Amino acid sequence: MSADRADRIAERLASRELDALLVTDLVNVRWLTGFTGSNGLALVGAGGYPFRLFITDFRYLTQSEEQLGDAWERQIASDILAHAADCLREAQRGRPLHVGYDDVHLSVKAHAALVERVGEDVELIPAGGLIEELRAVKDDEELERIRAAAKLADEALSEVLERGIVGRTERDVALELEIAMRRRGASGPSFPPIVASGAHAALPHAEPRDVTIPSGTLVTIDWGAQLDGYASDCTRTVATGEVGDEERAVYALVREAQQKALDAVRAGVAGRDVDAVAREIIKLAGHGEHFGHGLGHGVGAVVHEAPRLSQQSEDELQAGNVVTVEPGVYVPGLVGVRIEDLVIVREDGPEVLTSLPKELVTVG
Ligand code: ZN
Ligand code: ZN
Repeated sequence: MSADRADRIAERLASRELDALLVTDLVNVRWLTGFTGSNGLALVGAGGYPFRLFITDFRYLTQSEEQLGDAWERQIASDILAHAADCLREAQRGRPLHVGYDDVHLSVKAHAALVERVGEDVELIPAGGLIEELRAVKDDEELERIRAAAKLADEALSEVLERGIVGRTERDVALELEIAMRRRGASGPSFPPIVASGAHAALPHAEPRDVTIPSGTLVTIDWGAQLDGYASDCTRTVATGEVGDEERAVYALVREAQQKALDAVRAGVAGRDVDAVAREIIKLAGHGEHFGHGLGHGVGAVVHEAPRLSQQSEDELQAGNVVTVEPGVYVPGLVGVRIEDLVIVREDGPEVLTSLPKELVTVG
């Protein structure tokens, strides 16, 4: 797996006239090499520099051997970035070496140290996003892991809802959801779960409060599991008993917008255009200003990644992307509804990974 990914990076490097890529972000390092430790980096060469070098510290001597296999030359160093700089300086021969680095994640301080150490004959060139672009298209094994994470998260929520949420605090429900996911094998939630009832649900990223969930209100729950290195992400809005006409109307609107947007998902469509489908429906209903975030985002090793489905997005959906479709309507002080599914982008449409119902469910 990792040899293949390194080869794909090498192809990209060649087309950008880079001789090598320094991979320092740990999520990218894991995707590339399989290494799950907390300190490691990789150097991938291209063209005349075909090296595949992985550097970690002595704590990970054994673990890195087990996880990387022999596709990578492994080296141990106490200061891995300084060691990478020394390796680059030595690899350079006769002409300046062009090395891409992750300008999105590497700190200014680390970059300055690196520049000084590699010397004048190694040129560091911003190449942030290069691996993220590749990561956006998942292979079958990755899709299986995301599918499993989504299934686990669905089951965890079903268990929590079955037990009832009325009379419990938002924070308590969020905690129980997290525990239910961990008990099922998740390494943790993919982000801190959101449980927001009543008017509080009108804050798209509400933090769970020590406030008791009453009956007769809408509750928005946004949660996901992290399993085998991959994330899931889902939102359901449920009713705790009878809710008013306004709440039902907003729910029906969001559900319709969500469904129409889902129907528009397929390879070759612009992320911006899928966003527009939901946005237009919500705008026509007079709630345009109440949908203040993008429609969705890619999900993979982390819960927010490429591609984006938003008004500003330049991304085109590709088969093998995993994205969320999550319109919301938030009327300040009154009501908030969001419905979010996780889907695989296929050539001919979406494959929805979320199995939970979307009609308004009433829970106790
Ligand atoms: Zn979410
Ligand atoms: Zn999301």
